[in-house]
Amino acid sequence: MFETLSDRLTSVFTSLRGKGRLSEEDIDTTAREIRLALLEADVALPVVRAFIARIKERAQGAEVSKALNPAQQVIKIVNDELIDILGGETRELRFAKNPPTVIMLAGLQGSGKTTLAGKLGRWLAAERNTPLLVAADLQRPNAVTQLQVVGERAEVPVFAPEPGNGVGDPVEVARASVEQAEHNNHNVVIIDTAGRLGVDSEMMQQAADIRDAVTPDEILFVVDAMIGQDAVNTAQSFLDGVGYDAVALTKLDGDARGGAALSIRHITGRPIMFASTGEKLDDFTLFHPDRMASRILD
Ligand code: GDP
Repeated sequence: MFETLSDRLTSVFTSLRGKGRLSEEDIDTTAREIRLALLEADVALPVVRAFIARIKERAQGAEVSKALNPAQQVIKIVNDELIDILGGETRELRFAKNPPTVIMLAGLQGSGKTTLAGKLGRWLAAERNTPLLVAADLQRPNAVTQLQVVGERAEVPVFAPEPGNGVGDPVEVARASVEQAEHNNHNVVIIDTAGRLGVDSEMMQQAADIRDAVTPDEILFVVDAMIGQDAVNTAQSFLDGVGYDAVALTKLDGDARGGAALSIRHITGRPIMFASTGEKLDDFTLFHPDRMASRILD
């Protein structure tokens, strides 16, 4: 994860080692190199600009510290700013005062929604919750079966339309699932919605209709981190078309650059809540900006 970015930043810091004091020129060169590293990592330009401005400002006014040499000071500044750009605090899941807590997943086809539904369900069940997964993706013939398979592996029950009843209405399925959860004491409902390969107004409308029918407590935008800047564009379209409270970043295990992770919070104003780091059900955690920054600078 983020190997390319890590390597680039490490080499920037290495060139500062042994310097007694940072000249104006050193700061400029360092800022330029960090800028290049971020651009190569596919970080969105407004984010790069804001990041570099902060680094320069803080390096110029460098806190004179006896404990840290100039290279260490720059590392500390970059670390602080990375944490900030990744969202600062960890965003915890918000539970509804009156159960069930309704979580809706939205995102493109292939972004990892169904897998994430299973991971989230299992993660919640391990914390003594009683989740119910809901198959409201009725677009793809296999989507319902796929969620059932994921649910079985995660040992989390799945609510799905009866087979043979035609295609079914995803809005009705979502609405009925909440009623079912109330009757059967499921305290969390996780609704998997339909995605398309690209941004599409019909898909957005369907997600918006489900949203209006069940008023979710949390809408999570699920996005594949490996698509870099495209993740940022898609994130913006979903923000305009459906709206969401937080982001779940998937496939971080295959993302050497980190552009999506570093851009999405700044561009959308929405925190990253979950990180998916593999195909296995356990490859899933709450997203911790400070741990992620340390990982990048490790
Ligand atoms: P959906 O169309 O949004 O429901 O996406 P799926 O859940 O079906 O995932 C699409 C593909 O991505 C599947 O092959 C998953 O196994 C894979 N996948 C999902 N999450 C991750 C992840 O975090 N890492 C990796 N490497 N693969 C993932």
